[in-house]
Amino acid sequence: MMKVYVDHAATTPLDIDAFNAMKPFLLNDFGNASQQYSFARTAKAALKAARVTIAKCINAEPEEIYFTSGGTESDNWAIKSTAFAFGNHRAIITSQIEHHAILRSCHAVERMGIPVFYLPVDSSGVVQPDILSEYIDDSTKMVSIMYANNEIGTIQPIKKLCEITHSKGALFHTDAVQAVGHIPIDVKELDIDMLSASAHKFNGPKGIGFLYIKKGTQIAPYADGGAQEFGMRAGTENIASIVAMAVALEKNCNRMKSVSDHLIGLEKLMTSLLKKAELDFIKNGSPKKIPGNISLSFKNAEGEMLLHRLDLMGISVSTGSACDSKNTQISHVLEAVHVSENYAKGTIRISLGYENTEEEIFYIVQSLMKILKR
Ligand code: PLP
Repeated sequence: MMKVYVDHAATTPLDIDAFNAMKPFLLNDFGNASQQYSFARTAKAALKAARVTIAKCINAEPEEIYFTSGGTESDNWAIKSTAFAFGNHRAIITSQIEHHAILRSCHAVERMGIPVFYLPVDSSGVVQPDILSEYIDDSTKMVSIMYANNEIGTIQPIKKLCEITHSKGALFHTDAVQAVGHIPIDVKELDIDMLSASAHKFNGPKGIGFLYIKKGTQIAPYADGGAQEFGMRAGTENIASIVAMAVALEKNCNRMKSVSDHLIGLEKLMTSLLKKAELDFIKNGSPKKIPGNISLSFKNAEGEMLLHRLDLMGISVSTGSACDSKNTQISHVLEAVHVSENYAKGTIRISLGYENTEEEIFYIVQSLMKILKR
């Protein structure tokens, strides 16, 4: 049986160069980068170099990159530490389709008395700038809108949303976990204040990521303790993973165009094969989306059943719905884009990576046909 991994929006395989770059720091050069003696210099130099490499990939300054344990921590930091930082403005605006790392951080600050507004999206998952203009006012402290959605891939009009936010003197954060390393990002050009990223989404190791914080942004530290990360996020640095993250990100940025072309080609092939097979489905998301993130809703199917049947055929995908004994629960994203129930329940997300092949696409479609036409 073929083994086909097509859940890259959940996590990606570790790049071999990134893996090799980690090894010396796990074995020989294990020094603590905060120490003064010469043995720690290799770790300290590697930390500095990784910060420079990562900053270059998003056109930031090295001192604007703060290493974290991943996307969830970066999102928690951005939301909570901005909410409780200085100033009279308090309200936060986000969208209904954010990842739970943002939504649940927002719920936490709401419980502490901070007002949060959750913007609706249109049927393709886009936050309309006009809607933000309607909600934003002088009480808004921060707007946090994800760069690209993890379930349907939709890319947001970040520059426009950021402009509107700044016109009211508020800060703009974006959860770019699904975007960094996949599409070009220039933080200076976009003029955003904060950006979250996670290495395991771009072929780096798990449990490492970063938060970009524009110089001068008022935000409280995430963790108090040692002086690491410019005194903003204490704790001995995970040098091996940081180094690997830099290698993976630089490599992904260098091959972005060719990988993207490859994924778009595979996606076109899959869509045309599904249409030829005369399966009744809709494709969710907007035309402007992360290459290879394919959300499909099959009429009168059960997403969880599809996931398990595909799993038995060696194919790993995600679903947009979960069953309990009585009901099928549709994800908050599919609800927000108003996919009708008879389609939404049968949603799967196929997210492709550079190592996927045409042969695998044929196999996935054949497998879907076997399951759905039975
Ligand atoms: N934000 C988005 C959009 C994501 O897709 C994810 C992971 O799926 C996260 C945040 C959380 O990232 P991490 O797994 O690094 O904590």
